[in-house]
Amino acid sequence: MKELKILYLYPDILDLYGDIGNIKILKYRIEQRGYKATVDSYSINDPKPNFRSYDIIFAGGGADNEQQILAEDLIKYKDEIKQAKDAGVYFLLICGAYQLFGKYYKGVEGNIIPGLEVFDYYTEANPDRNQRCIGNIIIESSFGNSKTKIIGFENHGGQTYGIETPFGKVLYGNGNKFGDEFEGFMEENVIATYLHGPLLSKNPELTDYIIRYCLKRKYNEEVILDPLNDELENKCRLQLFERFLYNKK
Ligand code: GLN
Repeated sequence: MKELKILYLYPDILDLYGDIGNIKILKYRIEQRGYKATVDSYSINDPKPNFRSYDIIFAGGGADNEQQILAEDLIKYKDEIKQAKDAGVYFLLICGAYQLFGKYYKGVEGNIIPGLEVFDYYTEANPDRNQRCIGNIIIESSFGNSKTKIIGFENHGGQTYGIETPFGKVLYGNGNKFGDEFEGFMEENVIATYLHGPLLSKNPELTDYIIRYCLKRKYNEEVILDPLNDELENKCRLQLFERFLYNKK
């Protein structure tokens, strides 16, 4: 049976606003199509994972304190993680994890949490800790051959700079910084984003895009996924578009 393997990094430390839902949605949508989905997790003190043996590596959000706790551990794997990324393993990184994959995160007190430096962007906390980018957010993103509206929820004090290839254009909400035009970071096999939500439950099209990418990479064949019943998801999406983009109640 064809299988996709997912590695969930630091599930006990990085899991805000239902980030674990992303794992559940991936597993569900993979299994509904008749494939096997294996989910392993790694956290501090666990044996070193073989990063390259996975198809998807996921990490969620966490407050500054949590980021500080795990940064030292994560950095031990800098080279392996970079190799996995270069080999085409798909990375989905939310908020705190998004920040940690950049050069550094500078906290409110000016303390520096070193990043993995897999990517060139960097993040600095807004000096006023009471002012954060909080709320629903809608962006327009291009993946595959189409433009899609992506819905999520953001809550970050960190302002991310140095992004040349964003995840999407902000239609509603803040994005990488207060009032930014763009949100997140994207490469062929990477989405790093401030969007909690969980991201994948609100955006089934994105989930299927990631699954297709991974199946194609692993089995070297074009995959057509059977459609699933996304009626409820689509109703929910429509409601949010109406509320935030078209100003209807
Ligand atoms: N500590 C980060 C910030 O506030 C990340 C928060 C999060 O993961 N939601 O910017």
